[in-house]
Amino acid sequence: MADDTSRTIRGRFTTCELVRREELTEDLIKFWIKPAQPFSFKPGQYCTIGVDGIERPYSIVSSPDEKEIELFIEVVPVAEGGHLTPLLDHLEVGAEMTLRPRAKGIFVLQAQFKHHIFVGTVTGVVPYLSILRKFLNDPEWPEPQEGIERNDYTFDVLEGASYLDEFGYDDELTQIASKHDFVKFYPSVSRPAEARNDPWTGAEGRINTLVEDYVSQLGFDPKETCIYACGHPQMIEDVGRRFANTDYTFIEERFWKEDE
Ligand SMILES: Cc1cc2nc3c(=O)[nH]c(=O)nc-3n(C[C@H](O)[C@H](O)[C@H](O)COP(=O)(O)OP(=O)(O)OC[C@H]3O[C@@H](n4cnc5c(N)ncnc54)[C@H](O)[C@@H]3O)c2cc1C
Repeated sequence: MADDTSRTIRGRFTTCELVRREELTEDLIKFWIKPAQPFSFKPGQYCTIGVDGIERPYSIVSSPDEKEIELFIEVVPVAEGGHLTPLLDHLEVGAEMTLRPRAKGIFVLQAQFKHHIFVGTVTGVVPYLSILRKFLNDPEWPEPQEGIERNDYTFDVLEGASYLDEFGYDDELTQIASKHDFVKFYPSVSRPAEARNDPWTGAEGRINTLVEDYVSQLGFDPKETCIYACGHPQMIEDVGRRFANTDYTFIEERFWKEDE
């Protein structure tokens, strides 16, 4: 993570322009940015953007085939230690940000497995959107794998949020799941009793407490299944623990550390 005391960016960087933004809730925003130079990435990777010398990594929602880079950002208020996000929150369309020229990250599709269980909390759903959009738009992707036909692949997206308005991509995921029987979307709210969740009729409870039952009902061969967890560190730790002594493969992407 960037050093917040020195606001001089070292090393190579380029720029990008904020071309569209959308507020989902008070602290969740979607950004669409246009890089000044061609920017390539693999679905699931992240880019690093900056304002006033403060840089942070953000996983990418869009598929590499899309013209703009889409981001889904949770604002951490200054009072809770936020640095870059309070600045992003005030950026207007047309604003320029820095952009590191290379995407990074290894939280990408593990194409050697047939079954993919994507577990995320709120913004943790981001890399899964990029993977799914790419899979659905590009019949040549991923590269052929020994012993796996393209129509063997299945994707189950399990997303947890406190409130029903925080899922961000529930409409898109519901629509994808209704069109393709190899994709399922299972959202759950963890605070069902609160008034903000009154209209909610779906699953209830923290997603990490529901994942084992969900996976066992699927009945996939654990050796052919990869479980991904992204977002809240406590959720990731718990899901990792639940599948630690099994034949499932588990990979994770932590957006922040609990003790920071
Ligand atoms: C690989 C990677 C990908 C990431 N992708 C995304 C993404 O797609 N969307 C996104 O919103 N963030 C993402 N993050 C987190 C992001 O990089 C920033 O850390 C976050 O936006 C907060 O930035 P900040 O400068 O305002 O606060 P920071 O200075 O980074 O952090 C301030 C404090 O807030 C905590 N914190 C950071 N993020 C959160 C959060 N979401 N909720 C509660 N506490 C938090 C930190 O642990 C720290 O204590 C990602 C991080 C990594 C490492």
